[in-house]
Amino acid sequence: RSKLGGGNDFQLFSSEMKEEIQRRVQLELGLRRALEREELFLLYQPLLDLDAGRIQGHEALMRWNHPELGIIVPAEFIPIAEETGLIVPIGQWALREACLQNRRWEAEGGQGLGISVNLSARQFQQRGLVEDIRGILEETGIDPGLVTLEITENLAMNKEEYMISRLRALRETGVRMAIDDFGTGYSSLMYLKKFPVQILKIDRSFVSDMLRDEDDAEIVRTIIAMAHQLKLRVTAEGVETEGQLQYLRGLGCDMVQGYYISRPLPAEQCIRLVKQYDE
Ligand code: C2E
Ligand code: MG
Ligand code: MG
Ligand code: MG
Repeated sequence: RSKLGGGNDFQLFSSEMKEEIQRRVQLELGLRRALEREELFLLYQPLLDLDAGRIQGHEALMRWNHPELGIIVPAEFIPIAEETGLIVPIGQWALREACLQNRRWEAEGGQGLGISVNLSARQFQQRGLVEDIRGILEETGIDPGLVTLEITENLAMNKEEYMISRLRALRETGVRMAIDDFGTGYSSLMYLKKFPVQILKIDRSFVSDMLRDEDDAEIVRTIIAMAHQLKLRVTAEGVETEGQLQYLRGLGCDMVQGYYISRPLPAEQCIRLVKQYDE
């Protein structure tokens, strides 16, 4: 009996694996066509400026509307895009689309709103990145000072010299640079002193546990205090409750982002929330 059970387990396992591989192949093939078929789209999550009590801007978050599989989240398709190199054209599309959307909001009464766009490791290292970004900024006519590019901490911390010169070149286009998911990597805060970045985003994992885990609370407090010493602005990600928001406010955190303020929204729904906070 147990032998039979084991056999069934093996069958199940292998068919699951087969499905996984099939899905992966399907996604990889589909992704090659996703751009031209206009299956990619952006949602926008507001960032609340705690001092001003206003929406400072939005972070563009990509989604893929797959014709057969439905909505695919970035955790699943960004790694594939990275491995295949498709992230380069897809990333350019995302930056252009986000800048154009910000311009549309400007025309709808959303003047001065910021827009944040994520850059993955491969994009950051791509030759010609700075020229591409400059081109998109010019083409869309956006004020570069409204644009923030987010790179993850792990990416940021190795290859120090290269990082610094790359960040400096990006900065020269007039955009601001943010370190995303901060606290998850191995770096010390003092590392940041050398990096020309303007914003730190505290990873969601610390924020979500800080009210019940004193270690996480201590990390959040330390990041905010030291970031301010380095004259960086701090955003807390993943704020889901009023209690978290109030705690972060008490620590002098500059901006918050998370489901408590709003989930990522379709572009048409954003200005309404901006105006609601302005009232
Ligand atoms: P990220 O840049 O750290 O974005 C924050 C993620 O946390 C988003 O997931 C967002 O929907 C989610 N989030 C925001 N507030 C909350 C909250 O209160 N609770 C919880 N549980 N989650 C919250 P999403 O949209 O699935 O994106 C995941 C990651 O994929 C992003 O992490 C980013 O690294 C990457 N990504 C998204 N869009 C792009 C893109 O256009 N280009 C590149 N290269 N990467 C992207
Ligand atoms: Mg981000
Ligand atoms: Mg993040
Ligand atoms: Mg995160």
